Amino acid sequence: MSTNPFNPGDTVVVSGIQSSGALHIGNYFGAIRQHIALQQEHPSYYFIVNYHAMTTLRDAELLRAHTLDAAVTYLALGFDPKKSNLFVQSDVPLLNELTWIFCCLTPVSQLEKATSYKDKVAQGLKANCGLFNYPILQASDILIYGGTLVPVGADQKQHIEITRNTAQRFNKVYCLGEPLFPIPDAYIVESVAVVPGVDGRKMSKSYANTIGIFDEGRELSRRIRRIVTDSTPLEEPKNPDTDNVFALLKLFAPDEKRDEIREAYLRGGYGYGHAKQELERLILDYFGEARERRRDLLAHEDYVLDVLRQGARHARERANTCMERVRELTGLVTTY
Ligand code: ADP
Repeated sequence: MSTNPFNPGDTVVVSGIQSSGALHIGNYFGAIRQHIALQQEHPSYYFIVNYHAMTTLRDAELLRAHTLDAAVTYLALGFDPKKSNLFVQSDVPLLNELTWIFCCLTPVSQLEKATSYKDKVAQGLKANCGLFNYPILQASDILIYGGTLVPVGADQKQHIEITRNTAQRFNKVYCLGEPLFPIPDAYIVESVAVVPGVDGRKMSKSYANTIGIFDEGRELSRRIRRIVTDSTPLEEPKNPDTDNVFALLKLFAPDEKRDEIREAYLRGGYGYGHAKQELERLILDYFGEARERRRDLLAHEDYVLDVLRQGARHARERANTCMERVRELTGLVTTY
């Protein structure tokens, strides 16, 4: 019998990001920024969730391109492969085995209540079984590495709750002695938990309302022009706390600048057009150095692939140890 592969009390950071489109500033403030900060402190596993992306994306070339672009984006933003693991979800195919086991433990009614699933269907996305089972694959993603801390945006709160339930259910059904899976906690930074998109809904690759981290030039101007505002005339005072442009501006502006713009809103004589121009300048400046690093990384795809290979090797080792124990506990007989 193998022993428990996870050390109780260890903090293990686990999180993922879909490669269904270019990564956007909601992904950055809600998740990637915390991922990069936490890599300094704890062992961490970050993956590009290409299996999940398949629930909405069926173009092989695009999926491959977005997956590599996500890796380049992480590295450009400061991910350090010496400190932490970055890999592609499908490089750990064992996940699918754990997902099946978890599917057999999960009531359909729990998945039917998932708000993210219901929202996507309400927005007109066709529901396939993959979209429905999304939270179970996510539970496998977290638990297979013994994740204890999951840095995410607020939209993932309920999914992490499903992961916690899944771990508890498995431990209760199959672990008579020591529980196998730690019960993970979501790590959500409230001030950036929901970054709005240009239409005021949550910014998301699924809603075509994003501003890409590395958008620039006409593309960036076009997206910023689309940000929805009310029709208060230029000369009148405006409420910064209900305005989408200000909600984005305050993510990028240093405190002093942010207060200055807030006062200009309240005073009047400062239009949404001015605020949009300021936002464009701030975004370009904020990601300026990362944009340079990105250009360099794009010219060195072999290096990026090496980082992903090394991350996947570590992730597979950890996943293998977990699955050996899972098979023993669940009575799956393997003869290889
Ligand atoms: P998307 O909805 O764009 O496909 P993902 O599902 O790939 O985003 O989410 C990756 C991470 O980014 C998750 O932790 C998610 O909570 C976070 N995130 C996504 N959109 C936002 C947002 N608008 N505000 C804050 N965090 C977000």
